[in-house]
Amino acid sequence: MDAADPLAALRDRFVLDTVTDPATGLPDVYLDGNSLGVLPRTVPDRIADVLHREWGELRIRSWTESGWWTAPERVGDKIAPLIGAGPGRVVVGDSTSVNIFKAVVGGVRMAGKGCTEILVDATTFPTDGYIARSAARMTGLAVRPVEPARIADEVTERTALALVNHVDYRTGALNDLPGITHALHSAGALAVWDLCHSAGALPVGLDAHHVDLAVGCTYKYLNGGPGSPAFLYVRESLQERFESPLPGWNSHAEPFAMDPSYAPADGVLRGRVGTPDILSLLALEAALEVWDGVAIEDVRTKSLALTDFFLECVAGYVPAGRARAVTPQDHRRRGSQVSLRCSGAGEVMDELIRRGVVGDFRHPDVLRFGFTPLYTSFADAERAAWVLGEVLGALPEVGPAVAGG
Ligand SMILES: *Cc1c(COP(=O)(O)O)cnc(C)c1O
Repeated sequence: MDAADPLAALRDRFVLDTVTDPATGLPDVYLDGNSLGVLPRTVPDRIADVLHREWGELRIRSWTESGWWTAPERVGDKIAPLIGAGPGRVVVGDSTSVNIFKAVVGGVRMAGKGCTEILVDATTFPTDGYIARSAARMTGLAVRPVEPARIADEVTERTALALVNHVDYRTGALNDLPGITHALHSAGALAVWDLCHSAGALPVGLDAHHVDLAVGCTYKYLNGGPGSPAFLYVRESLQERFESPLPGWNSHAEPFAMDPSYAPADGVLRGRVGTPDILSLLALEAALEVWDGVAIEDVRTKSLALTDFFLECVAGYVPAGRARAVTPQDHRRRGSQVSLRCSGAGEVMDELIRRGVVGDFRHPDVLRFGFTPLYTSFADAERAAWVLGEVLGALPEVGPAVAGG
């Protein structure tokens, strides 16, 4: 399968195989790219150049001569094709949490007058819920948690917007972005999507599905590095009405006029806040070079093949009944990770990592294995399942009753 994989050569664009397991001499299998992507080879030299030449020598001239000032929108345009957005719709900066705040408050400000509530994905990654609650308090609305599959039934004419995760970070389930967006629009509500676990993993189609606002991480499947800045998408036809709740001077129509009164920049630039985090932003820009010539549809094809194969290997190697897949079998409902529930999951993951298989553990009993098709091989998937089978086969079965005693 690796020999027939059209994306196999992309693995060489990343720094992998640096850590080897002393017992087997084999390199680590890294299945945690859904939490922190691997370092692309283009990044270190580019960052050295930014430090030594652009900062060290050109200093303040780099804001114009090295294109620092325009990096947020330039890098946004580089991410855009991966999430189905045209140019001028994506801006990069700040964390995902901060961008959720901009999107939710900005969305409420564009919603109809009589709106009284915000729907929040009941299964969301916690930060989205925390921020939505605060945004709701500030705008005088209520928050109602709703399971993504129920949003179409629960949305009313009083709903300003729904904030939904495209892929469930815990189970790896893919939510129906076109269907939920359409249902929200039919009720007059806006659709705000969190793409943290889908950007760079599968086609999103933001423009095609008329998504209103979206945010996402760049340090997961986009490999931008720890804490690399997030992105904000604002639908083209809404940009003129989008009022950021954080209208910093970088979002001003004429930032260098130093005007005491505020006028927002045209387009998605009004999603900027303050001075961009240039080192992280330019590391991300260099990291995005690995996507040159890569179609996100091909990435999706490989992702599904990898997760299918991993599930098949788990079924073959793991003693029956010891781990249960919670990631949907249906391709239309699956993201790019496989989550398995098992008892003692925390200890099981510790042991897997000791044996060179790096996934992660999510409370209370979930093992997560992320598959980044740009650098994960079928051999990786097979070895991870094999080692999991060994670990679960060797460990005494710890059920809840045993664990308590
Ligand atoms: C990873 C993730 C975040 C992270 O937010 P930060 O502000 O970057 O810490 C937010 N939402 C979701 C759904 C995530 O998966």
